[in-house]
Amino acid sequence: MPVPKCGFGYVSDMTLPEHGLSSDDLFARIDRYKVGDARWREGRVFSLAYYAGADVLAVAEEAYRRLGTENGLNTDAFPSLRRIQQEVVDVVAGWMNAGPEAAGFLTSGGTESLLLAVKASRERGRKERGITQPNVVLPTSAHAAFEKGCYYFGLESRRVPVGPDWRADVGAMEAAIDDNTVLVVGSAPQYPQGVIDPIPEIAALASARDINCHVDACMGGVTLTYLRRLGEHVAPWDFSVPGVTSISVDLHKYGYTAKGASVILHSDKRRRAYQTYVTDNWLGGLYGSSGVLGTKSGGPWAAAWAVMHYLGDEGYLRLTGAARATALQLADAVEATPGLRLLARPDSTLVAFVADDPATLDVHAVAEVLWREGWYVDRQGPPASLHCTVNAAHETTIDAFIEALRAAVVEVRSTTARGTQGAYGTVD
Ligand SMILES: *Cc1c(COP(=O)(O)O)cnc(C)c1O
Repeated sequence: MPVPKCGFGYVSDMTLPEHGLSSDDLFARIDRYKVGDARWREGRVFSLAYYAGADVLAVAEEAYRRLGTENGLNTDAFPSLRRIQQEVVDVVAGWMNAGPEAAGFLTSGGTESLLLAVKASRERGRKERGITQPNVVLPTSAHAAFEKGCYYFGLESRRVPVGPDWRADVGAMEAAIDDNTVLVVGSAPQYPQGVIDPIPEIAALASARDINCHVDACMGGVTLTYLRRLGEHVAPWDFSVPGVTSISVDLHKYGYTAKGASVILHSDKRRRAYQTYVTDNWLGGLYGSSGVLGTKSGGPWAAAWAVMHYLGDEGYLRLTGAARATALQLADAVEATPGLRLLARPDSTLVAFVADDPATLDVHAVAEVLWREGWYVDRQGPPASLHCTVNAAHETTIDAFIEALRAAVVEVRSTTARGTQGAYGTVD
């Protein structure tokens, strides 16, 4: 496995100034540092950032500021944060069609939510069945954070190849399950090709064996909820599906709130209890924590609460409709572009595509040309492909992007340039 190319090889020789800078100076410096950053506010970034307009951003930032230094580690000291967390979780539970028994927490993001789903499954397997060599059965399309969770918590990851439509192959997953399986996974949608796994069939595998089934709706939880309300047919994926035991939904994606906010919901408190951690085996007294972090800023929680209340159902319907229509416009344009081919018709707002003939067109080189022109898209594989996370910010820029994409394809073909894949995340 190649090690991801890291940063720009920049080595800082910085030491702290003896006398503090003025706030004017230091903010000016931060702004200078940001000059080369991807321009998400301008609708030029199809990954990593989501934007619903200056007013929504202002609400998130002001709410973040008001509770950023309060600490969610202990909500006895900050009842405001207990209340905010409960209200956010309740709203998300409603979106997921959760029953009255459902219980969840706010986490720092999709990765923490998935880590906790893995940890809770391991713990349940150990306590209820004495499993000491646990494994997780999941499609190759499931997010890398599951792999991280298996690695951190000592589970075997059993990756099962997806079918030709990129959806989980339920028969092959069933064949991979054994007595030590504690968790099966489906995604709604999975990140790489943007399709929804057959959740009812995956959940049935779990309920037949009384094991956990996690639905990763980090990307799709908000969008699919509101697409259904807009009258689109959406494949079943939430707690209305029998056998689903937990779901993750990221608010810092299509919830359009500040970074650091995801929800993990369990079907009941007994299952949720397996994700929490309590100890008194040190000199500092009883320590309980709901997730991976200890100290946690109230900022992301306040921002999530505020943005959700600012937008309301009406706001999410509008933003979801805009993102979906724009994603379909991009999908149609890709299909109509000579040399490019969609990997799948998008089930939500993720659009992934490849070169018809990778020998004559390197799509990663296309991404490099786009970046030179100020557009950011994800490079991924296998197979070598480009990935666009379309959000409401792209409604007004999609025509210009399609034009830039087509020009980049023509340019790369004429020079037969080769690009590199880069990495989904960096390590320095
Ligand atoms: C983004 C994403 C994650 C991980 O979430 P982070 O917030 O980046 O930690 C997990 N699963 C899916 C499907 C995602 O799109």
